[in-house]
Amino acid sequence: MKIAVYPGSFDPVTKGHIDILKNGAEIFDKVIIAVANNSEKNSFLTVSERVELIRESVKEFENVEVDSFDGLTIEYAKKVGAKVILRGLRAVSDFEYEMQLSQANSALSSDIKTIFLITKPKYNFISSRTIKEIFLNNGDISKFVPDCVREFLMQNKERLN
Ligand code: ADP
Repeated sequence: MKIAVYPGSFDPVTKGHIDILKNGAEIFDKVIIAVANNSEKNSFLTVSERVELIRESVKEFENVEVDSFDGLTIEYAKKVGAKVILRGLRAVSDFEYEMQLSQANSALSSDIKTIFLITKPKYNFISSRTIKEIFLNNGDISKFVPDCVREFLMQNKERLN
């Protein structure tokens, strides 16, 4: 069984993330989206909120699981029996960072490979950070995030502001 881990902050999950995930789910037998629990201090949503919103957004995919983890991604990948780390690429600006991360992971554990998928052009500019900016400035984020994310953010607007 070919298992891939798709790690990230997903703060919050966007349609760009879901596009990468959808393609990954067609390639691998199982994809585990794993919310990294190491940057909690500066985060917008809590890890459990992010996990719940991803769960709601991916419920139609039968071979996708959602989890969170602490520590190194490769240790988590080993724990769940994944040989692949899945990451998304948007623009050249992602490349440098993603290459370093992938090479660092490869130096730590050469049997776990990172595979990159490129998003559809219409999702190319979407980042969690841009979504937060638009939302906090009262812009319409409905084209960029799953409905449940937009609803959750609207319901919690006072706290998030
Ligand atoms: P991180 O904080 O680890 O970069 P993110 O949640 O921002 O986590 O992103 C997780 C992964 O998804 C990264 O590989 C990132 O490049 C990718 N990604 C984010 N947004 C998009 C998008 N719109 N299209 C394709 N890939 C994306």
